Amino acid sequence: MNCPAIKVPASMPAEIMPWTLPSCREKNAEIFGIERIALICKPHSIAYGIPSGFSTGTLLDVDLNDPKKIIQFVERYGLPTTPYANQSERVEKRFISNDVFSDKPEQDGLDIWYDALNASERSAEISSNRDCALFNSFKDKGRSQGTEVANLTEGIRYKKEQVILLDDLVTTMAFMQLATLLFTGKAAYGDRAYDYVLHQVCISQNKDIFENRFSQLRWALQMIDASEPQLAVAKPGTFEMEEGTKIWVSDQFESIEIALATFIDLAINPYPERHAFIQEQTLRRMVNRNLNDQNLIYGSLTRAWAIQLLETLESHFSWNTCRVCGRPYKIRQQTMKAYVKQEDANEDRFKDRNNARDKNGYCCKAHEQRVRRKKDKRISNDQLDKAARKMDEHGR
Ligand SMILES: [Zn+2]
Repeated sequence: MNCPAIKVPASMPAEIMPWTLPSCREKNAEIFGIERIALICKPHSIAYGIPSGFSTGTLLDVDLNDPKKIIQFVERYGLPTTPYANQSERVEKRFISNDVFSDKPEQDGLDIWYDALNASERSAEISSNRDCALFNSFKDKGRSQGTEVANLTEGIRYKKEQVILLDDLVTTMAFMQLATLLFTGKAAYGDRAYDYVLHQVCISQNKDIFENRFSQLRWALQMIDASEPQLAVAKPGTFEMEEGTKIWVSDQFESIEIALATFIDLAINPYPERHAFIQEQTLRRMVNRNLNDQNLIYGSLTRAWAIQLLETLESHFSWNTCRVCGRPYKIRQQTMKAYVKQEDANEDRFKDRNNARDKNGYCCKAHEQRVRRKKDKRISNDQLDKAARKMDEHGR
């Protein structure tokens, strides 16, 4: 029997670093000559983790067309920030200190953004990779670049606050939502995954936002509309796509997939591993953590989500389908906000559980309550009917 002399450590679960929960208000701000909606954020408390089931629950439920709903989400869970060009790190640093303004904010803001892109080995690599062209969405002057400019512009915020443009947040959220739909779809439904994702996009309140950020989806939906108009809105699996359409749709999805997988990976590992001189796997694992200390990883909601999504995909639990939204999930989300205590976050993340009782259930507490409220309403309507009938009988 192979008995190693040194006990080999199991691979470490990625560490979730804390991030800041802000309180937010909405404000219009002129950036690059165009009026844009911005969120002005003030640090409120520290989050140590997201509740189990968040990725397949609340995250997918947020209406990205409604700034009020986005603010409610951000105050409970934190800011969705992009790991591209190290935005996540800059946002956390700004919560500590952000007292610099510039008299040429547009130029300085762009300089900060491009310097960060080039300073990050991984981001620079992504920016020149054709498979990752979707990351250009963040470059937009109303998104991640615009956020840098807004923070340097005087008159938008107070010194203790920071600005993030709404369109910037919405773009990051669209990446997070679509990545979750796609990879959970592939894990739960295999061959029917693309069919499932198209169906979900079609019925989503965020359909236009997805189509705008991921033009491949728009083409795929148009193609299906032209050939089989009922397909996209039908339940996934009800209709079979023609072979030609299927191949074409798969090609579209494959180009999205690489970019979204890179996004998740970048959120977890913003720095390339610095141990190329050690080749041996066991030794690498053992020295890895010390070497990584040179680059402190900043926490963010995006990173916590990425880690949870991977843990969900890898866990041995079986997939369930929510009775309300029809989306796959493994663990039902019970707590509807981020944890502000380290102990609570750890207890939830490392809890021994079984998900057998989640069968035929709901992806989150909110969806269960929605059904219960409907039932209660039906019952009270029935009772009213009965009472009315009684009155009628008495009257006669
Ligand atoms: Zn649901």
